[in-house]
Parts: sequence; C-alpha cells; structure tokens
Amino acid sequence: MNCQDILDRICDYIDKDLDPAICKDIEDHIEDCEPCVAFINTIKKTVDLFKSAGQEPPDIPKPVSSNLMSFLKDKRDE
Ligand SMILES: [Zn+2]
Repeated sequence: MNCQDILDRICDYIDKDLDPAICKDIEDHIEDCEPCVAFINTIKKTVDLFKSAGQEPPDIPKPVSSNLMSFLKDKRDE
C-alpha cells in the first residue's frame, strides 16, 4: 500500500464502503504518513460540508487528487 493506493481508495474509505482488510491497510499506512493524513482530513471535511448541506459530495476527479498528493509531497520535502 503506497500513497497512490490510498488515493485510489480514499472515497470508499471515507464512505466506509470498503473491505475491512483494505481499511486496515489504509489505517496502517496513514499511521506514519503525514501527507495522507492531511489529505484524508481535507477530503473528510469537504465531504462533511456537503453532507451537512444535505448534498451528495461530488466524486473527486483523479487529476485533482494526484495534484494534491504531489503538492503534499513537495510540502514534506521542504
Ligand atoms: Zn501516504
């Protein structure tokens, strides 16, 4: 499980629509991956905002998530 795998599964993870074994893999990964934690928190907040407004959260387009991930990686390298 690497950061890209996390990104690919993040929506399912947040929706709790995920195989418990995969869920566990994600949790193991984010335990020591700060960019992924930051990323998940950002997505969660966004999803919560939509939900509290009574709207369905939009799917996160792949280019957005990979841009965000490279941004977070750059941050970590600074
Ligand atoms: Zn990661």
